[in-house]
Amino acid sequence: MDFALPDEVRMIREGVAAFVEKEVVPEERRLARFLDDERHALAEDGRLRPEVVEAVKRIRRRSAQAGWYAMHMPESVGGAGVSKVATYLAWREVMKRGPGLNMATLSFVEGPTPLFLRMTPQQQETWLAPLVRGERSSAFCLTEPGAGSDVAALETTARREGDEYVIDGTKTFVTNGPYADFLQVFAKTDPAAGLAGLSCFIVPADAPGARRGRVQQSIMDDGGQCEWVFEGCRVPAENRVGEEGDGFALAIGNIGDTRVTIGGQCVGLAETCLARMVEYASQRKAFGRAIGKQGQLQAMVADTAIDLYAADNMVLNTCWRIDQGMDVVMESSAVKVFCTEMLFRAADRAIQVHGGTGLMKEVGLERIFRFARLLRIPEGTSEIQRWTIAKALGL
Ligand SMILES: Cc1cc2nc3c(=O)[nH]c(=O)nc-3n(C[C@H](O)[C@H](O)[C@H](O)COP(=O)(O)OP(=O)(O)OC[C@H]3O[C@@H](n4cnc5c(N)ncnc54)[C@H](O)[C@@H]3O)c2cc1C
Repeated sequence: MDFALPDEVRMIREGVAAFVEKEVVPEERRLARFLDDERHALAEDGRLRPEVVEAVKRIRRRSAQAGWYAMHMPESVGGAGVSKVATYLAWREVMKRGPGLNMATLSFVEGPTPLFLRMTPQQQETWLAPLVRGERSSAFCLTEPGAGSDVAALETTARREGDEYVIDGTKTFVTNGPYADFLQVFAKTDPAAGLAGLSCFIVPADAPGARRGRVQQSIMDDGGQCEWVFEGCRVPAENRVGEEGDGFALAIGNIGDTRVTIGGQCVGLAETCLARMVEYASQRKAFGRAIGKQGQLQAMVADTAIDLYAADNMVLNTCWRIDQGMDVVMESSAVKVFCTEMLFRAADRAIQVHGGTGLMKEVGLERIFRFARLLRIPEGTSEIQRWTIAKALGL
């Protein structure tokens, strides 16, 4: 069995790393006074300052022009059609800088996703093409105040009236919701039919009856999420994606994809934690010798290396399976739960090895720790992943 990475994959990884150096690092330097502490990056309304939002948009556009941002999408819609393995390695590379502006290099939930491949060519021209070019951004609106894990309990409805649908309901924790140009909204067209009654609609942010709610500040303090409220919100019937009742399959298709992407993010961040632990433990002295000579700290470093080795190979194998067209329901859940929990352990150990220094904001490790904690909830909590795995095993 040959585990060597193809040259093309290595070139993509190196290309993305060079892009981050050339386009992201100067933006970070320019905005250092806002980025030194997340709270300085926020405007009074809880959203990111306009300067930071503009920087994110600029990185996204330049990355799209360079061919990185939408590289995971098929060539037929303007992407580069690169493999899942290459996309994973690109994420791993990008995340080595920690969670920040660098993440705008690659598309996540705000950009082109598998859901858009289920659109008609006309819909793709209107909604997908500007996403692929990095000119606009979107948001995925599934969760509601009364229903997160239990998608069947969603209460937002979409009622057909002539050539329009009328949407009523509230969505919560919408990532990129504060900045999105248009939304992917999941609503029940047949409330009595449970999951089979769920449909998906594209709702422009300025659609009549659509209102951006309060910004929700997560532990990242990054103005990243908000509520969206729909009160008699009217959209043309042509904004429905797929058929009525396709909503659950469309949502799950996207979430399955994102779970693997999160695996890549976690491995990149954990690599950074490990490197920082080794460096610090080699230099910092206590009781007359480097702390890295202490068995307890060596165990923390070794356990992180073991975790990382397992996670990297797990994600690589799942990506390879996706590239072969294999079903990965069980594997993508395993990736999500293992990688997010692996990163949580890695970030926790990295802080411990750094002692008090590890808790200081300027060191950057506590930010990775908070991000690791956050990642265990969205795109299906750890419990939901374990439940999915148990069900896949016949329980
Ligand atoms: C930072 C962030 C970003 C997000 N971005 C988006 C987004 O862009 N779009 C979007 O639609 N949503 C988004 N979400 C919502 C996210 O997907 C939900 O928070 C998540 O699915 C959990 O739903 P919940 O919060 O309602 O928790 P609940 O479903 O109420 O769960 C509460 C607890 O019960 C557990 N639980 C529930 N059911 C079971 C079960 N059957 N077995 C065992 N345990 C169970 C859960 O694991 C959890 O521990 C985001 C959330 C966060 C925090």
